[in-house]
Amino acid sequence: MAAIPDPLSRHTLVMKFGGTSVGTPAAMTQVVRIVRSEKPRWQNLVVVTSALSGVTDLLLRMVRDVAVSEETFRADGAELLQRHAAIADALIPDADRRRAVMGEIGELAGRVVNLCQAVAVLGEATPRVMDAVASTGERMCVRLLAAALNSEGVAAEAVEATQLIRTDDHYTDAHPDLETSYGMTRQGLAPLLAHGSVPVVTGFIASTAQGNVTTLGRGGSDYSAALIGAALPADDVWIYTDVDGVMTADPRLVADAFTVPVCSYREVSELAFYGAKVLHPKTIRPVIEAGIGLRVCNTFNPDHPGTRLVAELEQQRGVIKAITTVRDLRLVTVEGRGMLGVPGVAARAFETIARLGTSVPLFTQSSSEQSICFAVPAGATDRVVEKLTETFAHEIYHRDIDSVWATDEVGIVTVVGAGMKSTPGVSGRIFNALGMADVNVIAIAQGSSEVSISLVVGAADIKTALRVLHALILRPEKSHDQEIHESHENGKRENEDR
Ligand code: ASP
Ligand code: MG
Repeated sequence: MAAIPDPLSRHTLVMKFGGTSVGTPAAMTQVVRIVRSEKPRWQNLVVVTSALSGVTDLLLRMVRDVAVSEETFRADGAELLQRHAAIADALIPDADRRRAVMGEIGELAGRVVNLCQAVAVLGEATPRVMDAVASTGERMCVRLLAAALNSEGVAAEAVEATQLIRTDDHYTDAHPDLETSYGMTRQGLAPLLAHGSVPVVTGFIASTAQGNVTTLGRGGSDYSAALIGAALPADDVWIYTDVDGVMTADPRLVADAFTVPVCSYREVSELAFYGAKVLHPKTIRPVIEAGIGLRVCNTFNPDHPGTRLVAELEQQRGVIKAITTVRDLRLVTVEGRGMLGVPGVAARAFETIARLGTSVPLFTQSSSEQSICFAVPAGATDRVVEKLTETFAHEIYHRDIDSVWATDEVGIVTVVGAGMKSTPGVSGRIFNALGMADVNVIAIAQGSSEVSISLVVGAADIKTALRVLHALILRPEKSHDQEIHESHENGKRENEDR
């Protein structure tokens, strides 16, 4: 009998699962369930996965701390095996299949231990060796997940992205060659997809033209999923995490935080830049360029629609979307009445800080040009002050610059929302709310895109600032997405009833 085409069935979906989604037997069971239920709805389904939560950290610790003792990294190697074996025991009932997978994982673990031994002899781990070790977590995970899917009757095959993504040799933070990678990805995945098999692909890892393993930077699995999505191209990329999408604030800090139903790429970039760990910041560009839909959703609450990310938002219901915070900073100020006439002070200050490898999440200059001020990580502050003092020794001697000094610890509270652009009075509301709560604002910066306003407040005021500003966000009544989701759910139930 000819199958009735499912009106919801579309072409190609890439699903990416983060570390917590695959970190325990219960979590991976949930992933298997999600993939199995989504499979019939798509012509092509590709899974990208991170390593089990904590495994990349463990691997990096092993290779960095080899000097400590051989016993330690042998114990770590055993823990690595144990984490994977616990999942294999729970999800792969067939003994032969389980033994085969654990055999491969054991081999990978053995190779890590050997590499660590070599590092112990050399006394130093090169970035290239670090990547060879760090990439092992994903390589183990894809084997486990593919076998778990097979055990549930889903045709799936482990694929290493070393065969799909080509990068330069900037180990630990490699840069992909998009054109080559897109070709390799299409070629690598097409045969599996043609057979209706689900490729289970390693996130995070890639390789150089010489075939050496590289990684795309910590948290890079999201980026891998975006690259694979753009290559195919996919209709959609769904990023599965352990919260209900992009939240209005960190739910650990704000109890009544809720999901942002729709968020523009610009807004989410701003959130990611200011500390919200929603998406790896590099994820967005390939997806925008390929016109692919992006959704962030929850492995542990898969019926929740999560957050849909869109290129442009037409109409904004609430002007403020989300609040995020960065802690552990201090503000370094360079000031002096003579600065007005001295060209290039800001450029030289930036250059000095950049040479220290310190990131500057926020920078302001007073319009009188008599002071400029940088937020820098608290731990780097003394060095920054020392180096700036050296850089401007001449100006300080001539009294053009009076001083270079740092505040006590501060935090940045960033209010994000593209709707702020067209709505006058938002900053009035923000300052009013902070004033009523007795929060002193030390410095302000607004991006020229007007998608965010960042406020620097004392460390002791961060929590209060976050709470009162979060109260300014309008809770959507019933969002458009929720309605779509509900009709979609009803459709599913009908399908099940058949
Ligand atoms: N496993 C890698 C990490 O921990 C990549 C990722 O999780 O996205 O950084
Ligand atoms: Mg992640």
